Amino acid sequence: MSSSVLGSRRMASTIANSLSFKLGVPLRLHPHPTHTSASLGFTTFRRSYVVSSSAFANQNREYVIVGGGNAAGYAARTFVENGMADGRLAIVSKEAYAPYERPALTKAYLFPLDKKPARLPGFHTCVGSGGERQTPDWYKEKGIEMFYEDPVTNIDIEKQTLTTDSGKLLKYGSLIIATGCTASRLPEKIGGNLPGVHYIRDVADADALISSLEKAQKVVIVGGGYIGMEVAAAATGWKLDTTIIFPENHLMSRLFTPSLARRYEEFYKENGVKFLKGNSLKNIEAGSNGRVTHVKLEDGSSIEADAVIVGIGAKPAVGPFERVGLDSSVGGIQVDGLFRTSVPGIFAVGDVAAFPLKIYNRIARVEHVDHARRSAQHCIKALLTAQTHTYDYLPSFYSRVFEYEGSPRKIWWQFYGDNVGETVEVGNFDPKIATFWIDSGKLKGVLVESGSPEEFQLLPNIARSQPIVDKAKLQNASSVEEALAIVGSSL
Ligand SMILES: Cc1cc2nc3c(=O)[nH]c(=O)nc-3n(C[C@H](O)[C@H](O)[C@H](O)COP(=O)(O)OP(=O)(O)OC[C@H]3O[C@@H](n4cnc5c(N)ncnc54)[C@H](O)[C@@H]3O)c2cc1C
Repeated sequence: MSSSVLGSRRMASTIANSLSFKLGVPLRLHPHPTHTSASLGFTTFRRSYVVSSSAFANQNREYVIVGGGNAAGYAARTFVENGMADGRLAIVSKEAYAPYERPALTKAYLFPLDKKPARLPGFHTCVGSGGERQTPDWYKEKGIEMFYEDPVTNIDIEKQTLTTDSGKLLKYGSLIIATGCTASRLPEKIGGNLPGVHYIRDVADADALISSLEKAQKVVIVGGGYIGMEVAAAATGWKLDTTIIFPENHLMSRLFTPSLARRYEEFYKENGVKFLKGNSLKNIEAGSNGRVTHVKLEDGSSIEADAVIVGIGAKPAVGPFERVGLDSSVGGIQVDGLFRTSVPGIFAVGDVAAFPLKIYNRIARVEHVDHARRSAQHCIKALLTAQTHTYDYLPSFYSRVFEYEGSPRKIWWQFYGDNVGETVEVGNFDPKIATFWIDSGKLKGVLVESGSPEEFQLLPNIARSQPIVDKAKLQNASSVEEALAIVGSSL
């Protein structure tokens, strides 16, 4: 498409939008193309002008983002980059803070208090991708209206109106749902809500955990995924007696191979973390003051604990948007490759969106920050410009632990692609290890621990190209460097 066509479409939309605000009504010309009946079975429509009813005692906003997390921060930046934020965009958030880089909460935020822990405003979006730090003042300067601590509780799709917890009515032209996930909780009847039992999703949760850690001596971590691994590493920094329990046979069972997990587990054990694997929690018990004292396991054993941190997964925060259309296989709000839901003018991005994962031809929901950033940017570009190419995401996950000052060793792994097929492990954990997933002769996924910046940069190219590799040659590689050179030569 020529740039003049792009330019004229953008201008048409800008004129319509600025007119609408002069007139005080949301007059919207949709700059993005007509919805097509694509793979998700969306109906064809063209939504042209929306004029508010004067009967509404509410305020009109052209663009509203619901949710003030990672995706919202990157979406706001894209609005600004396209000159469409000032006076046009509102963000409605449940939290008291401007969007921030959520992964920090179980990493530098939990550093021991004498080891320079991260605090806001240090990690507001979009610092995680090297962008400008979007503090509350940034939003003011850019003319973006922020509603803090006022979650959306209801939507009237026909009237394009949101109701917030405090009773505000907000009329939107286009709506972007970026509500993320909520942490899965243990049932109340087994002690899931006792004082001293923690879940971590936001700053308030992390602050509550820190005040528990300050008084704690013995902590039990329930769950062997990202949150469990990261909090256990943090607890070693606080020199706490730390036990991690999970029902699977090894850490990070959805991604790591047993062999790779064993390397990490050994490192954690060397640093004092105790593992109770293949074991499920029965209930959590409290003392006479009502606070947690013990964790009871299904095998009848009991572990003392004055703080319990639960990391057993998360659920997409779809309420109150169920009517927009949910995906039955992966949960979340169903969208197409431009993040359009089945309702015209409503979009969903980030953790909450169930989108077509083009590269593997399946519908997916991805709860990782890289996708939150990219999906938000892709959606807003498609909404504001004539960009029509569909999202083509390459799954990528990472974690960083033991990064506090004076830690025994910093650990940082990155994964790209799909963890399917047979695996080849190369290298030693110290200094560096890699796992390659090979399916039908093609290299589908790669994980590297402690890679150099150049090595990490190579990983997305490898995973996207899916080169045919000589498995025997890879198995004989004596180092990660040699293995990456072998794979690199097949690209
Ligand atoms: C502790 C922790 C550590 C993580 N570490 C990593 C990591 O190392 N690597 C990685 O790739 N990913 C990590 N993640 C995942 C990553 O943070 C998420 O994928 C990312 O934050 C998703 O962005 P989002 O905007 O979709 O959702 P979120 O960032 O969760 O933002 C959603 C926002 O919407 C708000 N909200 C919800 N409902 C409503 C409502 N009805 N009205 C208004 N507001 C609402 C929420 O309060 C929240 O502010 C981590 C997540 C957590 C919780």
